[in-house]
Amino acid sequence: MTRPIEARISLVALSQNLSRVRDFAPNSRILSVIKADAYGHGLLPAAGALSSSNGFALLELNDALMLRRAGFGQSIVLLEGFFSPDELLPICENRIAVVIHCFEQIDMLESSMLPGKIDVFLKCNTGMNRLGFRPEALRFALARLQGSGRTGEVVLMTHFSTADKADGVADQMEIFGRAAAGLDLPRSLANSAALIRYPETHGDWVRPGIMLYGASPFPEVTASSLGLKPAMTLASRIIAVQEVRPGEGIGYEAIYRAEKTMRIGIVACGYADGYSRHAPNGTPVLVNGRMTGTLGRVSMDMLYVNLSEFPDAGIGSEVVLWGAGLPVEEVAKSSGTLSYELRCALAPRVPVSYY
Ligand SMILES: *Cc1c(COP(=O)(O)O)cnc(C)c1O
Repeated sequence: MTRPIEARISLVALSQNLSRVRDFAPNSRILSVIKADAYGHGLLPAAGALSSSNGFALLELNDALMLRRAGFGQSIVLLEGFFSPDELLPICENRIAVVIHCFEQIDMLESSMLPGKIDVFLKCNTGMNRLGFRPEALRFALARLQGSGRTGEVVLMTHFSTADKADGVADQMEIFGRAAAGLDLPRSLANSAALIRYPETHGDWVRPGIMLYGASPFPEVTASSLGLKPAMTLASRIIAVQEVRPGEGIGYEAIYRAEKTMRIGIVACGYADGYSRHAPNGTPVLVNGRMTGTLGRVSMDMLYVNLSEFPDAGIGSEVVLWGAGLPVEEVAKSSGTLSYELRCALAPRVPVSYY
């Protein structure tokens, strides 16, 4: 017997979620975002399940090269582009596209010696204020890129800051529209939230991330109502049971005290596995398929669940921390974070199985 925690990843769910992207954006090419080890789902297995994507977007050149070596021939885009001139040769030789977001990158391109051209996603900062040229500088950046002789296809790109909120995308759409007016170039704007809610953002390339993994980008909308299937289930088992008397504390700092005699299950899953230490008392959890809540502070390797109503549960009972039967969004909401963060936090020590 080994420690019973496991992340189970459904490759079928990943490809079904990709079909949902196609339903929402039937006329756009799909750049599946597989950064952060495919949001914790494993780069190569996820890319395999998503192989009918027109392209992949991620951050690290090494990951892009790994995809090429594994035989993926579609577009690959580095979302932060390159950081130093020595990356340009492998980028060029492996036909990897780069986001260009600042003049320093254009300087590096201009002074490079390359055997071919590099495809570019030219990023406009329309209000996110993270990466990109200000709208009034976009044309100058484009002119320099096109004059450099180093660039192949150019796609105009921006990223939304509030596509998942009531503010929506209208302001940024208008700024982008003005910056790109008259430029006959392909466009890429939409993350999952914009792709689902604002068809006017679809353009030539959509960039779905979180929805591929089966989570809703909107706090108030469930994944299942969007036809998305959770791709990851984090499961473990009860490894000990404690009977606790009234007034006794549970765990570090005793943030929970029993009001009556209680039965507590100890689960082999803690914050070093990727479960949030900020999950408060009552964060939902499934034991043998039935909903109960966590109690006390999550510790590094274990957490506590209330078994008072579950006399049949005991050592060996299956616990689902999130996934099948328990949307990760609910666990995230209870923990004051986003499903994005929970997925990505999954620790390397958690064994992963695919089905
Ligand atoms: C992460 C990312 C995406 C995907 O966003 P989701 O909200 O997960 O769909 C799209 N575009 C860029 C530039 C990103 O960094």
